[in-house]
Amino acid sequence: MKKILLICFALAAAANVYGWGEKGHNATARIAQKHLSCGAEREVTRLLGGYNMAYWSSWADGLRGDGRYNFLTTWHYANADEGQTYATAPKAPKGDVYTAVVECMERLRDKNSNDSLRAMYLKLLIHFMGDMHCPMHAGYASDRGGNGYQVTFRGRKTNLHSLWDSGLVDGAHVWSAAEWAENIDRRMRRRERRELQAGTPLEWMEQTVVLSHSIYAGTPQDESLSWDYINRFSPLVEEQLLEGGLRLARILNEIF
Ligand SMILES: [Zn+2]
Repeated sequence: MKKILLICFALAAAANVYGWGEKGHNATARIAQKHLSCGAEREVTRLLGGYNMAYWSSWADGLRGDGRYNFLTTWHYANADEGQTYATAPKAPKGDVYTAVVECMERLRDKNSNDSLRAMYLKLLIHFMGDMHCPMHAGYASDRGGNGYQVTFRGRKTNLHSLWDSGLVDGAHVWSAAEWAENIDRRMRRRERRELQAGTPLEWMEQTVVLSHSIYAGTPQDESLSWDYINRFSPLVEEQLLEGGLRLARILNEIF
């Protein structure tokens, strides 16, 4: 029993550090898949060995502990302290989620690359586009992206990072990843979709930093967060997942 508890704690702790929980990444990938052009979908499916993007969306989180992928350790996030933007914040020497997205895009565009390398960078791009839109992956460096910012959510002690990775996703709606993707990918005019997809990875990164900083300002540490908080912020969670998926589709449509 003690061993099972320890494993549960280890899993919960690991989930705190590595981006949207599996559900958020899965939903982002499903939305992207739906908005692929026919040509892009054919090439993506071929590179992914016949599987869809959701299947690989959390693959990058499972690489921890595998020495071959140590170079990815800091690629899941980018920190910016209060008063900083992404551009002015100190950079992680081995890369961050913004440089990760850019590198994956370049590797996929490289016509001289082989299929197995391109498949790897495709799986990574699917994941890191989710992380880039996950607000606490652009949190303060001083509290490790909200991991050191203690809050109480529905009577349970947690931290801001974990709350935004999965607590809010699970608290907002009792939906599966497939339901999340289906329900938040609302009908909209093509022009509105284009607007959501517009911009560059650098602009998306800066948007997430601004969002993250507003979340700190709107999250008191001395009161128990509950339905008010869910009601206030769940539209934001939905929008981040939707934008991550739509923008991922745009990138892949342009590359393939
Ligand atoms: Zn991640």
